[in-house]
Amino acid sequence: MSEEFSYVTGQASLPAHIHLPQFSGIFSTQETARSVAADDFGHYVHRLPLAVLQPGSFDDIVRVVQFARQHGLKIAPRGQSHSTHGQAQVEGGIIIDTASLNTIHALHTDRVDVEAGVLWSTLLRTTLEQGLTPPVLPDYLDLSIGGTLAVGGIGGTSYRYGAIVDNVLELQVVTGEGKLETCSPNHQPELFAAVLAGLGQCGILVKATLRLIPAKNDARVFHLFYSDLAALIHDDKTLIRDGRFDYVQGYVLPTPRGEWSYVLEVVSFYTPPADQLDNARLLGGLNFMAGTEQIEERSYFNFSKRVVAQAAVLKEKRVWHHPHPWLDMFVPASEVEHYVSAALTDISPSDFGLLPVLLSALNASCFRSPLLRLPTEETVFAFDILRTVTPNPEVVAKAVAHNRQLFERNRALGGTHYPISTIDLSHTDWERHFGLVWEQFLHAKQRFDPDNVLTPGQGIFPI
Ligand SMILES: Cc1cc2nc3c(=O)[nH]c(=O)nc-3n(C[C@H](O)[C@H](O)[C@H](O)COP(=O)(O)OP(=O)(O)OC[C@H]3O[C@@H](n4cnc5c(N)ncnc54)[C@H](O)[C@@H]3O)c2cc1C
Repeated sequence: MSEEFSYVTGQASLPAHIHLPQFSGIFSTQETARSVAADDFGHYVHRLPLAVLQPGSFDDIVRVVQFARQHGLKIAPRGQSHSTHGQAQVEGGIIIDTASLNTIHALHTDRVDVEAGVLWSTLLRTTLEQGLTPPVLPDYLDLSIGGTLAVGGIGGTSYRYGAIVDNVLELQVVTGEGKLETCSPNHQPELFAAVLAGLGQCGILVKATLRLIPAKNDARVFHLFYSDLAALIHDDKTLIRDGRFDYVQGYVLPTPRGEWSYVLEVVSFYTPPADQLDNARLLGGLNFMAGTEQIEERSYFNFSKRVVAQAAVLKEKRVWHHPHPWLDMFVPASEVEHYVSAALTDISPSDFGLLPVLLSALNASCFRSPLLRLPTEETVFAFDILRTVTPNPEVVAKAVAHNRQLFERNRALGGTHYPISTIDLSHTDWERHFGLVWEQFLHAKQRFDPDNVLTPGQGIFPI
């Protein structure tokens, strides 16, 4: 382990008189395991747990939750810990590292049963062997399924299929009461709704049944360059309305000259020779700078896992381990141009880092999971400022304070946030965030996690 990941400062341990349950997996109080669990992709918040459980079975999770209830300990499930503000951490509690829940169970022609710790890359490789794919994938496939379903899951096909949580058929969950339950829209619907995009507050997701659709073999990828933000926004809205491309994702990228550039990445999935694509028809009527478009052919799998390859480059350059004070929001379409251009003037492209700003239009009516909060307009924009900064606490603190300003400005315009961001939120902020569904969420919390054991790192319910 490198020095920069060593956060263990004390010898915190479980009191000697406490008898641990028997686990079939590994329950570790080792410094290394605890130290790794006190970090995430933000590399800014570090909360040291007492122990880390790598469950050998769902029963291990039942036992550890009952144990935590009995002894007044907190628990946080941890997928790949790619959230950026301690959301999957717990000070003095127990981390459940779901990576050991890594089995893909039954694969059918329209659905798959998969454990929470499986990565999207592993799942996709398996489903593609049968010519199938989840309708929506995250851009980065090395996220855990459980961690993604806990937050919502957005990808370039979301404008058509909604969030990843909108494509879940059934769940198995260990509730905060320490009970293993099965739920779906027809069976225990309150639990189902409370777990999808439920930020780990009511239950630990252990297995999910996900919808699958037939996959195409290939991807024709178009990069369209725009002279300004307004033109990008205009075409993004057109494309999610007419649906001519399968995948639509907007980017604002820093240029080497220290300016912002505007790009739409649009993709048609197809299987030749049955599907014939007509580039002129696909690009007709759009407002990109004619002649600057770039067109490339990839396999569907290769396109879907492109960010894993980009991450490998960033890991090699060591910037993957720098702080990432990200801000992820949903902005109402009526406000997006004004809001985003103001936000971008506050940020210097030259010290932004190597990741992009994402800006993508979505049809809100495709999003059905109540806990994933979107603005009330029919068209909304996902706006993600994927900033990388130097590992200097002052620089990070400044970015976090700026995130808070941008968050408040967006909220005043009727916007919401995607809760993987680096922002400090109070209990009241969360109550406002959940708005009309707050009472329902609170009721579910009291019912399924009556001792408030689960996932304190989100900061939703006072400890
Ligand atoms: C490089 C990169 C690319 C990304 N791309 C996308 C993208 O395209 N689309 C998108 O939507 N998001 C994206 N994200 C954000 C990502 O989806 C979230 O951070 C997600 O939570 C990450 O999954 P994880 O396995 O790392 O979860 P973690 O960060 O480990 O957990 C997230 C939250 O869920 C809880 N949790 C974890 N597992 C479970 C479980 N089994 N049951 C209940 N609660 C659980 C945790 O306690 C925590 O509160 C990206 C993040 C990174 C760093």
